Amino acid sequence: MAQFQLNILGCGSAIPTARHNPSSQIIDIRDNLFMIDCGEGSQLTMRKMRLKYARLNNIFISHLHGDHCLGLTGLLSSMALQEKSGTLTIHIFEEGADLFDQQLKFFCRDTPYEIKFNIIKPERATIFESNAITVETIPLFHRVPCVGFLFKEKPKLRHLKGDMVKFYEIPVKDIHGIKEGNDFITPQGVLVPNSHLTSDPSPSMSYAYCSDTAFNPQVAESVKGVNTIYHEATYTNEFISIAGKRGHSTSAQAAQIAKMAGAERLILGHFSKRYRDESGLLNEAKTIFDNTILANDGMRIDLL
Ligand SMILES: [Zn+2]
Repeated sequence: MAQFQLNILGCGSAIPTARHNPSSQIIDIRDNLFMIDCGEGSQLTMRKMRLKYARLNNIFISHLHGDHCLGLTGLLSSMALQEKSGTLTIHIFEEGADLFDQQLKFFCRDTPYEIKFNIIKPERATIFESNAITVETIPLFHRVPCVGFLFKEKPKLRHLKGDMVKFYEIPVKDIHGIKEGNDFITPQGVLVPNSHLTSDPSPSMSYAYCSDTAFNPQVAESVKGVNTIYHEATYTNEFISIAGKRGHSTSAQAAQIAKMAGAERLILGHFSKRYRDESGLLNEAKTIFDNTILANDGMRIDLL
């Protein structure tokens, strides 16, 4: 079972090519699947990567350009034919909810599962929370309203020191509280500080998806301290002015954002179809931020 795994379904820009599908990713958190964007053909890649429809309960759409959402109706229709059950929530701008609601009423009249729309806005907000994670929107700077998504694992419980539990004969009823950071008071009234009983918890993971956006330092500010950042890198530096005009970034600009954010790792994606290979994009980014990799369709990356 994957603990926290990023699956890249597509990382090309506007037009699907033989090299890349349009944008779509799935984060697999202990067999719960979270899709980010759903470009055309995402359902096929999902099947090729053996990511199960039944496990997908949340889809996050960054903006309403076709390369980020035209796969949605087809995917939802196939999920209905595959007898998916339960509830699927689509986190999307209001206009998108209206649009897809109409399509679903026409193409998917009798879905065996419930489809809910959670209306999001182009501003910073927590839009999803479970026992394990939170998801926040990050305002981006594109030609239409657009947000990124920041996935954060909640702080984990502290690790118990087994020998200390034995030594102080700590009753079972107190164990959970101690893992949460409580001190222990012995039957004789002596306080044992939590630091004697536990060690630090395993680190919590965070992942930021930033596509599509022009270069803007506010993006770095929004994701400060993130572990892994996926940032669009549509162009190499020679097209920097086109990038700005079209609300996109160069790979060097993506690297600057990763550096300013203090990220540990950068994944580049949303490549222009003009590139037959993306080594130029990678090289330009690496001069600024060394721990950079290129996304690719079908790629799986452990985020923990
Ligand atoms: Zn795009």
